Amino acid sequence: MKKIQAIRGMNDILPEDSALWQYLEGVIQQTLAGFSYREIRFPIMEKTELFKRSIGEVTDIVEKEMYTFLDRNEESLTLRPEGTASCVRACEENGLLYNQTQRLWYMGPMFRYEKPQKGRYRQFHQVGIETYGVAGPDIDAELLLLSYELFKKLGLTHCVELQINSLGSDVARSEFRQALVTYLQSHKDALDEDSRRRLDTNPLRILDSKSEATQRLLDAGPSLSDYLDEESRQHFAEFTQLLDACGVPYTINNRLVRGLDYYNRTAFEWVTDKLGAQSAVCAGGRYDNLVAQLGGKATPAVGFAIGLERLLLLLQGEGSVPSLGTVDVYLAAVGNVQAQALSLSSEVRRALPNLKVFMHCGGGSFKNQLKKADKSGASIALILGENEAVAGTVTVKYLREEKPQLTLPQGELVEVLAEINN
Ligand code: ATP
Ligand code: MG
Repeated sequence: MKKIQAIRGMNDILPEDSALWQYLEGVIQQTLAGFSYREIRFPIMEKTELFKRSIGEVTDIVEKEMYTFLDRNEESLTLRPEGTASCVRACEENGLLYNQTQRLWYMGPMFRYEKPQKGRYRQFHQVGIETYGVAGPDIDAELLLLSYELFKKLGLTHCVELQINSLGSDVARSEFRQALVTYLQSHKDALDEDSRRRLDTNPLRILDSKSEATQRLLDAGPSLSDYLDEESRQHFAEFTQLLDACGVPYTINNRLVRGLDYYNRTAFEWVTDKLGAQSAVCAGGRYDNLVAQLGGKATPAVGFAIGLERLLLLLQGEGSVPSLGTVDVYLAAVGNVQAQALSLSSEVRRALPNLKVFMHCGGGSFKNQLKKADKSGASIALILGENEAVAGTVTVKYLREEKPQLTLPQGELVEVLAEINN
């Protein structure tokens, strides 16, 4: 019979990779805790309307990337393509934005119907960070400091670059949009096909067109920075001063607009040239109008999301990863000694909770078990044979060091192992 396979673009994370995932997630959580951000969890599905109203009808995500279907009750539901909309919905619904500020994060799978390739999948994972209630640029800077600290911990600062821009107010952006459309209309023939289509639907997205001809055309066109309102200009100036002050390096990219409708003022991306076309590792910005747009009271907001698969690819290729062995101690149980082996391993785990103790199950010769101990990556093999069992002893064999093996009373084992319990 033909075997059933996974859905295209949706990957299994196998045991050999999950240790690295756990490491990455651990560093992220530790960093976020260090900044006093708190976790929020919400469902992976929402009513379709939520994403349409927040992300925008004529964006790539809503137009072509959402997993949308009718449930048994004929209600249109969508697997979340990103977390910001759900986060706002959850906060509003639970009164988290009432008279208080919030600094939140979430981590988990997102779903987009895209052409799968390296760094681009249909189920992928993000850590999202969202803050509510702070209008000033200090929080924008804190977010970038946080992301920078994370890249530092992962040893990745040499291969990522921060690009920032200001999108200004709604009014500024719409004036710029008008000028851009007028300019590009008069040069329509020189535009690539994608951009021509966007001219009518989402003209700002033309700014990040990959076509060189289009980019040249834009060089001579209107610049968003000339249209910024005074308050946004001031906000951006203070934002860059704060980045300078806390030592976060950046470049200003006036063409950075982001693909979602809800952003205003600060927009940013951490990009890399190590992942081919998938250059964005982390992206976000300010979205002061979204909460009101979704029916809440106007609330300033700023956040970002990191694509974990891309971060992981970078980490594997460029970063610093400690050794991630899953076995420290391999207990070989040779002969009819399983009962004693179980209680001995249990005692060790109780006394040394950080130690990873693998107890051999399923029998087999001494030689065979030692081979497996070596292959497991353990630094120590414990040998419990029938002689040891009768004498109440255990043999400690060092697998990675030139140290003589020793046989000792089981009661002294914890003391010996304590050295490697770190
Ligand atoms: P791209 O331009 O690469 O399509 P995006 O602008 O659609 O990215 P965002 O919506 O800003 O991406 O999502 C934030 C981050 O999530 C991205 O910077 C990226 O690291 C990651 N990401 C987005 N889409 C995917 C995907 N299909 N597979 C893997 N990671 C993704
Ligand atoms: Mg995309």
